[in-house]
Amino acid sequence: MADGSESPKEACGVFGVRDPRQPVAHLTYLGLFALQHRGQESAGIAVSDGAKILVDKDMGLVSAIFDEYRLQALPGTMAIGHTRYATTGASAWHNAQPVARQAGDVFFALGHNGNLVNSAELTRGGKQNATPEAELTRGGKQNATPEAELTRGGKQNATPEDELAGGRPDASDSDVVAALLADSLTGDADGDLVAALTAVLPRLQGAYSFVIMDETRLIGARDPHGFRPLFLGRCDTGGWVLASETPALDVVGARVVREIDPGEAVVIDDEGVHSFQFAAPRRRALCSFEFVYIARPDGKLAGIGVHAARRRMGRALARQAPVEADMVMPIPDSSIPGAQGYAAESGIEYGDGLIKNRYIGRTFIAPTQLLRDNAVRIKFNAIEDNVAGKRLVVVEDSIVRATTLRATMRLLRDAGAAEIHLRVLSAPYRWSCFYGLDTSDRSKLVAATMSVDEIRDHLGADSLAYLDLDRMLTAITSEPGGFCTACMTGDYPTPIPAAPA
Ligand code: SF4
Repeated sequence: MADGSESPKEACGVFGVRDPRQPVAHLTYLGLFALQHRGQESAGIAVSDGAKILVDKDMGLVSAIFDEYRLQALPGTMAIGHTRYATTGASAWHNAQPVARQAGDVFFALGHNGNLVNSAELTRGGKQNATPEAELTRGGKQNATPEAELTRGGKQNATPEDELAGGRPDASDSDVVAALLADSLTGDADGDLVAALTAVLPRLQGAYSFVIMDETRLIGARDPHGFRPLFLGRCDTGGWVLASETPALDVVGARVVREIDPGEAVVIDDEGVHSFQFAAPRRRALCSFEFVYIARPDGKLAGIGVHAARRRMGRALARQAPVEADMVMPIPDSSIPGAQGYAAESGIEYGDGLIKNRYIGRTFIAPTQLLRDNAVRIKFNAIEDNVAGKRLVVVEDSIVRATTLRATMRLLRDAGAAEIHLRVLSAPYRWSCFYGLDTSDRSKLVAATMSVDEIRDHLGADSLAYLDLDRMLTAITSEPGGFCTACMTGDYPTPIPAAPA
């Protein structure tokens, strides 16, 4: 995906570690760094030393937020971490995660990957007990000291009011869950976080993979459809790790134990890992776009290597939509394995036609309108010698809004491309995602409003072909049931939020 300012953003990355034999702030930093691609707007770490929880979070990239000084100030042997893109809730410091709350004597922190579809209903149903006042008085400040939550976390932008999840119109769905847990902890759950989760999680609809902790326990939970991944890993020291993707386990030296099952929660304490099913698994719906675009290619999901799956998609696309050409090239980076697969299957030479500036974050801000207009040139530059006079097969993983891709096509034309045959590794993205990709405004999806021929003309390509959905799923795995494909089919695995009147 030629990810630019108008491309969809991934939901989030979550990480958790509990290892009584070592301090874990640095491990959490490494885990978040490995998950940076899943969220680049804000990041945070909550750490427990067994008696109190400190939270440090801020806007920006993991490496820009945390330095040695800040990590040294987060002592403890258990932590959760989070990288965020905004889906529900504004991109602002007060929506950065982990979310931290106190309810009675219990202090807990929570990180969420995914998006709920019933947060409005939950807010109406649950917030009466979690008023802004309640949130303020239970807000955990005695444990999350001003130094931890505010000074290091962007105090200049954060007022006490900002902490009041229940009172803000832009509160995130994760705030809603935290408020429900707080309500439960001071009510029926009687201070037991696991009992509160058992009561609250079945009420949530949509996509969620959570990492949660109190002062002594690390908990992971995954929604009954299994939309977003969540892995359990083990360090050689005996410590346990939770992470959205397997490369985050690799980077801290943990081996994959297994995926958390849909509807399952795991509680990690001094005794080890305890698992319970808080809801029966429902229609399996792992996000197929994790394989297309979201997940790192060096990871595995559901036991399937992502890089190999993308190569198979490229091969399938070459069989489905062959064309005479001189070179197959990717739109870097996520389309590279697919382009390699297309080249291998077609026998057409593989080459690079675009160089991507690797130092441009997805939150890069072009300071002037002129630079914004030329944003694609800041991100990509064409290799004229490789492109000029050639008939190109340009492989892209997906087309969502098409703005950046259109500019990229112009870049290749300006560099002298003789023909551009665009090949897309997924089916047309025609429907909004309510499960974590920020594509809720359907009118912005180019395939929702244009035919394939119209998109081809809009992009200025000589030909355009999308991989058929069946071929795409079969390329991922030989047993292709169990994926969410709603953005390509409109077949949503859950009820979806009603459109605003
Ligand atoms: Fe993934 Fe699309 Fe389903 Fe969203 S709608 S979870 S992007 S497959």
